Amino acid sequence: VTPGDLSVPVDLDHHYDLVAPRRIQKVAESLPPLQPDWVRVRIAFCGVCGSDMSRYTGARSATYPLSMGHEWVGVVEEIGSADADIAPGDVVTTDLNFRCGSCRQCAAGHSHLCKVGQVGRFTNRGFATRTDIHASYLHRYALAPGPHLALAEPLACVLHALNHCQLSRDDRALVIGAGGLGLCAAFALSHGWPVGGFDVTDLMADRLQRLGGVVAPLGAVVPEPTEEYAVVLDVSGTVSGLRSACDRVSPGGRLCTLSHLADDADVGFMLQTLVRKDVTLVFSYLDGPSTNLARAMLMLEEWPPAWSALLDVRPLGELPEIFEGRASSPANKVVVEVLSSADEDA
Ligand SMILES: [Zn+2]
Ligand SMILES: [Zn+2]
Repeated sequence: VTPGDLSVPVDLDHHYDLVAPRRIQKVAESLPPLQPDWVRVRIAFCGVCGSDMSRYTGARSATYPLSMGHEWVGVVEEIGSADADIAPGDVVTTDLNFRCGSCRQCAAGHSHLCKVGQVGRFTNRGFATRTDIHASYLHRYALAPGPHLALAEPLACVLHALNHCQLSRDDRALVIGAGGLGLCAAFALSHGWPVGGFDVTDLMADRLQRLGGVVAPLGAVVPEPTEEYAVVLDVSGTVSGLRSACDRVSPGGRLCTLSHLADDADVGFMLQTLVRKDVTLVFSYLDGPSTNLARAMLMLEEWPPAWSALLDVRPLGELPEIFEGRASSPANKVVVEVLSSADEDA
């Protein structure tokens, strides 16, 4: 697929809905005419996020049917009205956040916490041939779509968390979790983010081993960390990962977690382990100001081909199997290919 190539026919517009926990259904449809300021995007690739997974398993409550997939890159096909910044053929990815620019949170530099952020112009619909979205969410790449370009949003969330960590070249860091966010953290730390060195750990040996192949020499993988670290970033999404983070952060250090644990998770151990450590604890949420997304996109333009071995790129038609197998899959990140080279040949 090359930017601007719109000659590719897709048999019928369709998307996948979650109709109940662990039940994904294909829905065929045609989209209604575009409203002004809305844009129709043909999805090229969409990443499977941990938040999609927790809705799939039912760990996070939801109203059904529910559409999933917010980590996408695609090609603009049609615009609802002339917009100076977006044109058909542009390769775009999306911000998750509506940023009004004038509320108290936006004015304070926390536009990801915008007071009117939930205005409903965002469409969480990346596992689809096409999606319609308000133009204000779109950011343009200067490259043809590739699976790694679907990582902009998770990488931006990691950059926001790393900003909280205030790393310097004197610090050693530990990343707990080698899934999609762990991959993004390792990528940032290996590509210019200030750090003295870092380790990554995960309970899944396969994921750790793949990452070990690309993070050297600045980074290393450790199945069972025993050191203490000035900075610990917990992207495990698990109670055991958070427990390990509390154990491994050194006195006076910084601990940042992106894990969204279940409401009834028992985390009483945090008080016991941290209360005498003088630790700075941050719960990082979403991707921070939009500068993080812009920076993430620039970093992804320098994606080294060796890192693509960490991505499992799978066709959209396998979506039910992809979700069902994700928890035990050795891939660090699964990216769904929607607009495939087979479509291009057709
Ligand atoms: Zn995500
Ligand atoms: Zn606002």
